[in-house]
Amino acid sequence: MAEKTYYLGIDVGSTASKCVIANASGEIAGKGLAGSGAGTVGPKTAVDAALADAGVTMDDIAASCATGYGRNLMEWADTQMSELSCHAKGAAQLFPGVRTVIDIGGQDAKVLSIGFSGDLENFVMNDKCAAGTGRFLDVMASIFGCKVSDLSGYDAQSSEVAPISSTCTVFAESEVISKLSEGVAIPNIVAGIHTSVVERTAGLARRLGVKAPVVMTGGVALNERLRDRLADKLGTDIQTNEDSQFIGAYGAALHAHEKARS
Ligand code: ADP
Repeated sequence: MAEKTYYLGIDVGSTASKCVIANASGEIAGKGLAGSGAGTVGPKTAVDAALADAGVTMDDIAASCATGYGRNLMEWADTQMSELSCHAKGAAQLFPGVRTVIDIGGQDAKVLSIGFSGDLENFVMNDKCAAGTGRFLDVMASIFGCKVSDLSGYDAQSSEVAPISSTCTVFAESEVISKLSEGVAIPNIVAGIHTSVVERTAGLARRLGVKAPVVMTGGVALNERLRDRLADKLGTDIQTNEDSQFIGAYGAALHAHEKARS
């Protein structure tokens, strides 16, 4: 029988399922994303897409690890691991020397402090309220009838920030609708929405203390204008890359790799 040399990480989030296949050297060999999370067919779709992307099958997987909100539903996985340690591990591997990870996902926002050895030292999180999370941005995008991935482009066209004063998603939604009816330009409203998320995230980050280098993970990291506004607010560069949404799943694959080899 051929040797199994690949490792699978699955991150079952509240909003999206992400899967990463790592090779024997710990590099990303394949990725899969499904736009739905726990309790759906999302995880299987993400796993199938990642296996196809890597050109392998489950028979080639030596070990697997599940993380994220719905990790305990992945009974087939060899291990389950908290998303905090998976985000820390994935970020430290992709961005050596990282000291702070800001993870904004669909339902919560977390700030992680990473030690010099790449281990998780401390964290703070907001999981009580949709404001300041991807959910807030998803709701706002639906008001404009656009995709959440279009928000960054709108903000890039803004000439000023139309401030959103409500910190609650439901009230902010009505505020946005009234601004639209008053004729405020969409790009300026989007700039206000991004500023509101940035204020909340910066408040969370300052509770922990922000040490550079800073990396942003989670789906909201794909929003470049929001990332740049957050970087300005914190007064530090924020690194992201096209794999930012997969960092938790990648960290899970690395945990599977490490455990199988220990
Ligand atoms: P979770 O792990 O909680 O399911 P993710 O880290 O996958 O969440 O992030 C999901 C959020 O990321 C969505 O709610 C959405 O707001 C945001 N998002 C996803 N794709 C994009 C994109 N292409 N551009 C901007 N934001 C995005």
